[in-house]
Amino acid sequence: MKRREFHQAAIGLGTAGLASFLGSTSRGEEAPPQEGDWYMEPPKKLPVRRFDVVIAGGGTAGVVAALAAAAQGVKTALIEAKGYTGGTVTEGGTALHSFYNLWKAFPGVEKRQVIRGFPQKIIDRLLSLGACSGHAEMEKGFNYDSVCTAIDTEMYKLVTMEMLAEAAVEMFLNTMVVGAIRDGNRLLGAVTESRAGREAFFAHSFVDCTAYGDLAAFAGADFTEPNDYAVANSIGLANVNVEKYYEFLESHDALTELARGLRSGQDGQIVRLEGRLVNLPEDFRREATEIGMSTVTTTVHDNYFMFIKLNLKLPVSPTNRDAVTWAELELRRRQARAVELFRKYVPGCEKAFIARTAPRLNIRRARCIRCDYDVTREDVLEGRHFPDEVFVYGFHDMAPRYQIKDGGTYGMPYRALCVSGLDNLWCAGMLITSDFVAHMSTRNTVCSMAQGQAAGTAAALCAQQKLTMRDLPYKLLRQTLEKDDVVFES
Ligand SMILES: Cc1cc2nc3c(=O)[nH]c(=O)nc-3n(C[C@H](O)[C@H](O)[C@H](O)COP(=O)(O)OP(=O)(O)OC[C@H]3O[C@@H](n4cnc5c(N)ncnc54)[C@H](O)[C@@H]3O)c2cc1C
Repeated sequence: MKRREFHQAAIGLGTAGLASFLGSTSRGEEAPPQEGDWYMEPPKKLPVRRFDVVIAGGGTAGVVAALAAAAQGVKTALIEAKGYTGGTVTEGGTALHSFYNLWKAFPGVEKRQVIRGFPQKIIDRLLSLGACSGHAEMEKGFNYDSVCTAIDTEMYKLVTMEMLAEAAVEMFLNTMVVGAIRDGNRLLGAVTESRAGREAFFAHSFVDCTAYGDLAAFAGADFTEPNDYAVANSIGLANVNVEKYYEFLESHDALTELARGLRSGQDGQIVRLEGRLVNLPEDFRREATEIGMSTVTTTVHDNYFMFIKLNLKLPVSPTNRDAVTWAELELRRRQARAVELFRKYVPGCEKAFIARTAPRLNIRRARCIRCDYDVTREDVLEGRHFPDEVFVYGFHDMAPRYQIKDGGTYGMPYRALCVSGLDNLWCAGMLITSDFVAHMSTRNTVCSMAQGQAAGTAAALCAQQKLTMRDLPYKLLRQTLEKDDVVFES
């Protein structure tokens, strides 16, 4: 939907609402509203909060954006709809893809960690608590990935909340961004809703990390809704035997991916597995295909599969509440069937049970927000670099079909994070990049985190210097990112 259509929808609601509100019977009483009518909300006085930087959405990108903003010494608010931080990293994915270039598929190419900064600081903290596999090198399936970084999802929530608290980020959890206050090209405030009531968060700079692009859409930014991915609700499956799942896949000549790393405090243990479905028993294969189940899993615990993914393609965009409601039920039915499948076919999993589900379904994309630059598939696949790049990245989710040229990296231009038509709204995460093949790289967790660091840093520098986003000197941004351990090629 384009900005104008979104606004027209809002105006339509207002006009119809007014008619309904003014409707009255011949005796002068108000007519009771009917199904399909509109109701006009009375205006409300909202308490105002004031910050330098407001980050909307405390997920994969938002956590890092808030840490990066606070590191510049500005007053930072993080507004998150759920009761914890971490987002899709803790609910949907398999492993964090990827801190490294895809060197293994390219003989002679150097192994390089291309993402460090705040994303690596989170990993360091998790490692100190035994809650991460480490950057485990792939033994098998390295055409797809070179390392596997698996995490304990519950510890990720705690660790990120603790890091945010230590950084003096003011967290507003269980708080939803529901509107925007705009004056010309400037976003003045984000309107929120929580049990504390409605509030208005005013700031100099805003970063939209809601994955859905809620703040940008409320602010009137242009967007599209490509609906080009399946939605999912993955499960954590407990009471399983990792080694026996490995043997099951091996015995059917089906093992396609294998990585070993830290698991239950011991190094050299299996932390990632995937099987080729067509090689597995016919009934397993048929049922798994029907319920959209993938055989890939990661773990950092002896008796736990951190993620078993159930996928479902919606006919409409996941911004459609009613379609999503149907999918929530359908995916929970599929989860129950997935457990049965493991119990029946995979030795060591006879008494498996679901230990974790996501509180709501996970999306790979909803709105795609129009920014000053749209990263193209050629930019990604050709490994292009830009004079205003804010980090480099070297992973593609469709490898080996699509790779970054020669196992190298491409640069993320600053412009790709600047929301068009606004002077002080950045975005980071799965909500940028319209091309599907390019998005298959930019949407990944570690790229989303790196975008968060760049956007949060830029937002803070602009707040400090009272600049609009397009006036921020690149040299200052680059120096600050380098100080905070962001890697560049030259
Ligand atoms: C099933 C699945 C499997 C995946 N597998 C992998 C994988 O193996 N490896 C990999 O690297 N990537 C994987 N991805 C992709 C990756 O996980 C996501 O693209 C990435 O995590 C997106 O980060 P984000 O910050 O944009 O969104 P999120 O991490 O989802 O964060 C958005 C946050 O905003 C909050 N929010 C939303 N709306 C509002 C609002 N209005 N007000 C306040 N808060 C709001 C949400 O609660 C959430 O916490 C997978 C994705 C899915 C769905």
